[in-house]
Amino acid sequence: MLFYNDYMDSHLELREKLLSTQTEFSYVYAHIPFCDVICHYCDFYTEKTRLADFNNFFQALENEFNFYSDFISPKKLTSIYLGGGTPGASPLEKLDLFFRFLKQYIDSISEICIEANPKDFKERNTLENWISLGINRISMGVQSFDDSILKTLGRNHRSIDAKEAILQLKNKVENFSIDLIYGVPGQTLHSFEKDLQFLLENNVPHISCYNLSLTKEHFLYKALPSDQTSLSFIQLANTLLESHGYTQYEISNFGKGQLVSKNNWNYWSGGSYLALGPSASGFNGKNIRWKNISNWKQYTNFWTDQRNQDQVLEWEELSLKQRRIEVLYTKLRLKEGLDLEWFSSLFLEDLEHSHEKVFDRWQKEGLAQREKTKIFLTFKGRMLCDQLVQELI
Ligand code: SF4
Repeated sequence: MLFYNDYMDSHLELREKLLSTQTEFSYVYAHIPFCDVICHYCDFYTEKTRLADFNNFFQALENEFNFYSDFISPKKLTSIYLGGGTPGASPLEKLDLFFRFLKQYIDSISEICIEANPKDFKERNTLENWISLGINRISMGVQSFDDSILKTLGRNHRSIDAKEAILQLKNKVENFSIDLIYGVPGQTLHSFEKDLQFLLENNVPHISCYNLSLTKEHFLYKALPSDQTSLSFIQLANTLLESHGYTQYEISNFGKGQLVSKNNWNYWSGGSYLALGPSASGFNGKNIRWKNISNWKQYTNFWTDQRNQDQVLEWEELSLKQRRIEVLYTKLRLKEGLDLEWFSSLFLEDLEHSHEKVFDRWQKEGLAQREKTKIFLTFKGRMLCDQLVQELI
């Protein structure tokens, strides 16, 4: 049990802020940064699995959760998302203890999701065990079924591993998601279409398609395709998947019918979420954001060793202007768009009139549509979302 003494300055300040804004959490994101192999393109905070101290790391997650537990009501967690990293590479007994600890907060309809890699299924043989822990959604990073693309990306699995894992998933889990990447040097539209076709044939309920993005210094940067070519990949995904009953509910995400990822939907909708783990960031749903340090050792020491006095958290209070920009960026990414009445009640600003000419032009150019109080971007508009939001800032 931790005793919160005065070395936890920034945490105590944050708690005060959360209390004063009557924060409640029903969404939890835990970042487990360990991966067996670090992929060439990865820009998440990651560390090698073989270096991990899982005992202390999971203890740190529990202690951090406890620190915020009075903001969560029993049985009220809508979603727990274990992201990373590769949380699927965590020892089963640690996940088991973690979920026992969370049990009193979980309800039968909570969505409990773990990110995994195809190799976890093969080498760790864990799917049934995960299900028995109460995990009911798997998000698997496949990226491609083309072995040469997987090699370019530096992935540690092969196409056959991913195909076998999907066969297991579709027989045992109702709700799962597969990530693909497009815009990889050497990738053709034909190969990407074959990837999508395989997912369709296997009735995968949720698909995420991410554009490969790299810094200018990256060794593959110069080999990236043009923006126009990248656009044709996501256009292909949109046409093919929507013709098979999927909805592109967000720029990169497609769900069968109305299916969405609860965790991500809450994030884009501006809801509150508790962040656990190194590099994770949290939000109170109003005006407070915070981020944990991207260093698992310092994070773990802080939450497990009372003598440690390093600060491992930064928080900020967002101005109305910052929040307004965030809302515009996140809402216009969504197919359901922005409710102008809601926006005006939040920011006391009549966007509809102040930007009437902008909205008219978007509509004329086929970038946006209006429906009652809402404005939403078309597929063409969503592909230019960042540019369009600039016109509202
Ligand atoms: S598996 Fe995911 S998180 Fe891990 S290194 Fe690869 S891209 Fe990064």
